[in-house]
Amino acid sequence: MLTIERSVQLAPYTTYHIGGPADQFIRVASTDELVEAIAYARSSGLPWFLLGTGANILIGDGGFRGVVIHNETAGIHVDGNRITAESGVTIANLINVASKVELSGFEHFAGIPSSVGGAMWQNLHFLAPDRESTFFIESIVDSARVLDSHGKIVQVDRDWFAFGYDDSRLHHEEAIVLDVTFLLTPSSREAILAQAEANLTWRAERQPPVEEFPSCGSVFKKIDGVGAGRLIDGAGLKGYRIGGVHVSEKHANFLVNTDGGCAKDVLDLVHHIQASVKVDSGYDLEMEIRCVGDFS
Ligand SMILES: Cc1cc2nc3c(=O)[nH]c(=O)nc-3n(C[C@H](O)[C@H](O)[C@H](O)COP(=O)(O)OP(=O)(O)OC[C@H]3O[C@@H](n4cnc5c(N)ncnc54)[C@H](O)[C@@H]3O)c2cc1C
Repeated sequence: MLTIERSVQLAPYTTYHIGGPADQFIRVASTDELVEAIAYARSSGLPWFLLGTGANILIGDGGFRGVVIHNETAGIHVDGNRITAESGVTIANLINVASKVELSGFEHFAGIPSSVGGAMWQNLHFLAPDRESTFFIESIVDSARVLDSHGKIVQVDRDWFAFGYDDSRLHHEEAIVLDVTFLLTPSSREAILAQAEANLTWRAERQPPVEEFPSCGSVFKKIDGVGAGRLIDGAGLKGYRIGGVHVSEKHANFLVNTDGGCAKDVLDLVHHIQASVKVDSGYDLEMEIRCVGDFS
């Protein structure tokens, strides 16, 4: 039986700590509840969306006039070299469980806030500290169960997702990931934890920590061979502030909300950066994050 909460502030459910109230808010703790909630949302005639850890999303200050489903599913099952995780499981939990059973794969994503569903939506990736290789979540995906746009549960393989850079089939059709089976490589717990630690150190040296500097990671899409952060830095914008949001001193593609900023501050800063970079270098910066809700 679903519980529908009314007028729930969304800011605490995002890493940006930004977002007004959702008219309806449904927490789901199991895949059965997730399926039920999606069926309800689809039949309600209202706009709706599924929220994972809220690390790649900017929600409007006016909130969301519809149904927000918060994915709190947390089931993990280990079978040989395979781990199956419900779509609300966090990557941090998977690193923890996989290191205990000595299976390697998730540690490359240490320090990135993400649910399994969000990771599949975005094809979660991490450029290795040696800058030689990029690890994509797709490389460890074996299969998944998906709720298709007709409400049917289907078993799919990795190819079904048509993964790209910051892209997957989930961007282009209304399918919901229910759970994913990952195929991992045996390794030692020490080696897995050492790799996770190396990635965390690399991240801490180059990016503002999200606990202290709320953000949603890189705001602008990568431009091959150039780097959006470098263009913003080149335009002299590090530290530039609008309202409670400023361009991080540590990584210029991170716009951090340190002083009670709002979605309008983020978007005003985005537009200022886009105009300044265009004048400075001629490049057009495109937003990477998804904007949802009422921005009026
Ligand atoms: C500090 C910081 C650092 C970051 N660094 C990186 C990085 O190095 N590499 C990287 O790739 N990303 C990075 N990100 C971005 C972010 O972590 C990823 O995009 C992550 O995968 C988002 O997952 P989420 O659960 O928070 O998704 P959300 O933000 O909650 O949702 C994003 C989208 O996914 C959809 N979605 C969520 N669950 C499902 C599901 N079950 N089925 C279908 N669609 C679903 C949502 O509806 C929404 O459209 C960073 C973010 C932060 C805050």
